[in-house]
Amino acid sequence: MKENTRIIHSIPVDKQTGAISVPIYQTSTFVQEAPGVHKGFDYSRSNNPTRQALENLIAVLEEGSNGYAFASGLAAIDAVVKLLSAGDEIVAVDDIYGGAFRLFTHIYQRFGIKIKYVDTTRAENVAAAITPATKLIWIESPTNPTLKITDIEAVSAIAGKHGCLVCVDNTFASPALQKPINMGVDLVIHSATKYLGGHSDLIGGLVVTKTPELGEKIKFIQNASGTILGPFDSWLVIRGIETLALRTRQHSQNAAAIAEFLTGCPEVDKVYYPGLSGHINHQIAKKQQQYFGGMVTFSLKEDTTEAATRFVTATRLFKLAESLGGIKSLVCHPATMTHKSIPPEKRKDAGISDSLIRLSVGLEDSDDLIDDITQALAVRKEKNKTSSFINLFV
Ligand SMILES: *Cc1c(COP(=O)(O)O)cnc(C)c1O
Repeated sequence: MKENTRIIHSIPVDKQTGAISVPIYQTSTFVQEAPGVHKGFDYSRSNNPTRQALENLIAVLEEGSNGYAFASGLAAIDAVVKLLSAGDEIVAVDDIYGGAFRLFTHIYQRFGIKIKYVDTTRAENVAAAITPATKLIWIESPTNPTLKITDIEAVSAIAGKHGCLVCVDNTFASPALQKPINMGVDLVIHSATKYLGGHSDLIGGLVVTKTPELGEKIKFIQNASGTILGPFDSWLVIRGIETLALRTRQHSQNAAAIAEFLTGCPEVDKVYYPGLSGHINHQIAKKQQQYFGGMVTFSLKEDTTEAATRFVTATRLFKLAESLGGIKSLVCHPATMTHKSIPPEKRKDAGISDSLIRLSVGLEDSDDLIDDITQALAVRKEKNKTSSFINLFV
């Protein structure tokens, strides 16, 4: 059976009623026949049929053994870190998601877990950072916002030699682009808030494990910590996943058209898109991704916060907001929004210049999106006309 068929039919028909959509089991507890005699469900923190349908579905999608659904992407990351103990070390990608940085550095270091950040796009950096205390390698690929790609297979091979676990935050790619477990990793996490949910209408997180043994450990942590996803949000993620393959193709197609267009714009300095042959990790992206994804980042020749602000407040279809992966296009200015808390010098080192702009390309027609970018770049040049120009269209 081909993948799309397999995914769509991994969502079970309700046995009791024949409902073709998974029912939302909005219940805290389940009636038992005798103490401990029940239909596999006793309390919704431990297990809930709607959440279980999503958990099974994400395991199928990522080609892992077990899946678990959490209240947010960060709760999913938190569950993976809880596999470790005081004295253990994490080697993590240096331009890691800001929320993961905050959790690792400002919470888990207090509990005696050490963190080293390295540029994982060079697998040898990972090898050099590993010590006998290293228990977990943490990768994101593509990264946020400069879309750097790590060779997941190469890093997994190194980790395997040292007996460390590897976890990939697969949020930016989604399993429609790449399946890290097939490349040798032990765990995959997602912010389901982004491409899996796909409609900017929920917060959720997922963990998938390669083996049932690791699955049991995550299940224990999920139940012990109680950071579960509720039945309604589980249902929304299932609904999102049903169209993931279709959406991903269109997100990628639109993003490729925009990246191509931006490359030819005289106002634009650098364009970051893994699908462009000039992208530093283009070859690895080609090797491990089915498409190049819906995220495009670029900087302006006029490298100032003012120039970027003019652009992000002039777009009309691209809405100015944090987050990504939804059907509506979003624009964000990392230096003053998602990456504001990083000191300016560190930000520059990570390639986040003052004018860097990140686009989450949605499912509108790419011609309209390109028209929107064109008018927003033009506003940039004609400062004095900005207000009247915008007024015409509000
Ligand atoms: C958004 C995001 C997260 C955190 O997910 P939440 O659902 O917001 O908690 C983690 N990793 C990446 C790459 C993200 O983009």
